[in-house]
Amino acid sequence: MRVAMIGTGYVGLVSGACFADFGHTVVCVDKDERKIQSLRNNIMPIYEPGLDDLVARNVKASRLSFTTDLTPAVAEADAVFIAVGTPSRRGDGHADLSYVFAAAREIARASQGFTVVVTKSTVPVGTGDEVEIVIGEAAPDADIAVVSNPEFLREGAAIEDFKRPDRVVVGTDNDRARKVMAELYRPLFLNASPILFTDRRTSELIKYAANAFLATKITFINELADLCENVGANVQEVARGIGLDKRIGAKFLHAGPGYGGSCFPKDTLALMRTAQEAGSPLRLVETVVGVNDARKTAMARKIATSLDGDVRGRTIALLGLTFKPNTDDMREAPAISIVHALLDKGARIRAYDPEGMEEAKKYLPDSIVYTGSPYECAEGADALVIVTEWEAFRALDLVRIKELLNKPVIVDLRNIYRPAEMATLGFSYESVGRPLKT
Ligand code: NAD
Repeated sequence: MRVAMIGTGYVGLVSGACFADFGHTVVCVDKDERKIQSLRNNIMPIYEPGLDDLVARNVKASRLSFTTDLTPAVAEADAVFIAVGTPSRRGDGHADLSYVFAAAREIARASQGFTVVVTKSTVPVGTGDEVEIVIGEAAPDADIAVVSNPEFLREGAAIEDFKRPDRVVVGTDNDRARKVMAELYRPLFLNASPILFTDRRTSELIKYAANAFLATKITFINELADLCENVGANVQEVARGIGLDKRIGAKFLHAGPGYGGSCFPKDTLALMRTAQEAGSPLRLVETVVGVNDARKTAMARKIATSLDGDVRGRTIALLGLTFKPNTDDMREAPAISIVHALLDKGARIRAYDPEGMEEAKKYLPDSIVYTGSPYECAEGADALVIVTEWEAFRALDLVRIKELLNKPVIVDLRNIYRPAEMATLGFSYESVGRPLKT
């Protein structure tokens, strides 16, 4: 099959490269000339483990190419994927669909012969109908079927997730389009990944329902962590105790500084708005959004408390800035709120992240001092805060860290160390939802 992938970001690039690896011929299109130029030089515009090899292999096999010119890529394609961003619209929290509609218009004008247009971007229920209208207006004679195929990959494990997904969801009631989609994903049928065919609206809603459910799970355990702190229980053991129940499941039960990233915050907000407008508000999701927002600033208070409530003039070292490990994505990272809240309280910030510092500079104030290692970061700081649980932070030389720190204070927002061991090492140690003696 010939595929055009419109939007070569985290989703488009990974999906495009994986489809090429399945044996399809894929052209990845992006408006961003610098991105395309760097991809042509085999320099990845994002950090995603394994991506450079996957891209290089498929470029070499002539199955994957990159262009800024949408027209020929679409003209030759059997399937055109829209994988552009759908950020929160400023002010009201709705998904901003302007990039999706702009891409749809260009695709409509460029398509030749029967073409399946697949919305891979996360879009509110009913968007497929609107895309169909936009296409009809731009090119009334175009022979196009609009399909929903939301993406569930996780940054940091994106290739594995794409190639071995828990499921693929496809929303269409067009038989020709269904055949094209089945052919595109055929290698996954062989791997026994379930492919769920459904109608377009249901497919669109499945994506939001999944993200809202996961955000709820995280927020549930975060609130329980607060309760654990107040009653002397251990949230990690609570999570294990409930997670072993197959009806609940162990994943997404790690207490921490609140969810962030490019998906959960915007998708929960957009679902909330959709539901309000449809006259069936999702009160649970509304609460989750509110609780999670409050949590990020509560983490700055927690850090301040570890320094007797006053961080003015103190230096705080942050380990990890990205919203999770193994990505350079800084969108809605908890570190952003934490940094702003600490700066507002008069603190000075040093920071280290293995892959995210270039991105972080776009999101954080200039006053941050970026460092070259966890140890350089700790040097002279009054407290060390673990914000993101990169593997590299799990086995720090704590004796050295203690020597480097001005005060032996560690705030571990990801619970990667043991309170009892930290106490033995002489640290004043705070974590999330665990008593000091565990
Ligand atoms: P991104 O911002 O990394 O990439 C989007 C790309 O689209 C950019 O490179 C931009 O230049 C390009 N673009 C925009 N308009 C274009 C046009 N008309 N023609 C060509 N290129 C255009 O975004 P992302 O993180 O890959 O997310 C894309 C979509 O996938 C979003 O709807 C998101 O919600 C969804 N999604 C993301 C993830 C994730 O983990 N990032 C996971 C699942 C779903």
